[in-house]
Amino acid sequence: PQPVAEFLTYFTVWLVLSVLLTAMVWLVYLRLRAWISEDLNTIVSLMSDIRRQRMRSAYQVNLTEFEKPLAMLVRLAQLTVGKQKEVESQASLDHLSQVYNRRSFETRQSELFKTLQQGQVHSLLIIDIDNFKYVNDTYGHDAGDQLIVQFGQALKLHLRGSDFVARLGGDEFCVIFPNTPLPRAIELAERLRGNLPAVLELTPGVLHRLNWSGGLSEYSPKDTAENQALIRADGALLEAKRGGRNMTRVKMAS
Ligand code: GH3
Ligand code: MG
Repeated sequence: PQPVAEFLTYFTVWLVLSVLLTAMVWLVYLRLRAWISEDLNTIVSLMSDIRRQRMRSAYQVNLTEFEKPLAMLVRLAQLTVGKQKEVESQASLDHLSQVYNRRSFETRQSELFKTLQQGQVHSLLIIDIDNFKYVNDTYGHDAGDQLIVQFGQALKLHLRGSDFVARLGGDEFCVIFPNTPLPRAIELAERLRGNLPAVLELTPGVLHRLNWSGGLSEYSPKDTAENQALIRADGALLEAKRGGRNMTRVKMAS
């Protein structure tokens, strides 16, 4: 019986140790698997963020082995997303004045035009700088460019954040006043005239008295084409020019 008892003791010890060892190996395996899958999830969420062109401030990493490659991926992704955003915003802006370009204006106008049938009211102001050619001819093309740049910036500065400022081309700009009926747009245009700087320094020592003419109109639900309000505003602008410049004229929808 002695050897049998001894065998049983050894067997029991061996069994307990084996079970403990297996359990430990299993626990280590489960923990490792959880860490790795959490890190893989982090990489997957990074990829999904890149696709949606956004980045979160931190990506949690558990295993130090993943830290360096993930940091490198995040850096690369930040560069890609940043570049993409820059390209997109440049494509919607006028390269000179950094206000929106004509294409963006048309997109915005199209969006707003669709809301007219639901009773929304929007107005627009077309602006043309007075005697711009004089600046080009007297002080040079660079001074003319500066006038466009400074005028665009001044418009953005003195309008509401919700107003949409675009350069349509040459010395012509346009402001869309979303959710603004014509009488309110008239007030805003007059306030703008009062607030814009009277004199701009185009190049060192070259001071220019800023004058501009404006044409105002309201988008009408009766308009059959998106640009009809712009045509009306253009007509009003022409009246302002004919009337002696440096003023705003209004043309209502008939
Ligand atoms: P008005 O008072 O009737 O508006 O006359 P104006 O002298 O301002 O002339 P107009 O608006 O008819 O013409 C604008 C000129 O702007 C025509 C063109 O030579 C010039 N121009 C167009 N684009 C640019 C540009 O990007 N930079 C510069 N410097 N000049 C430009
Ligand atoms: Mg002009």
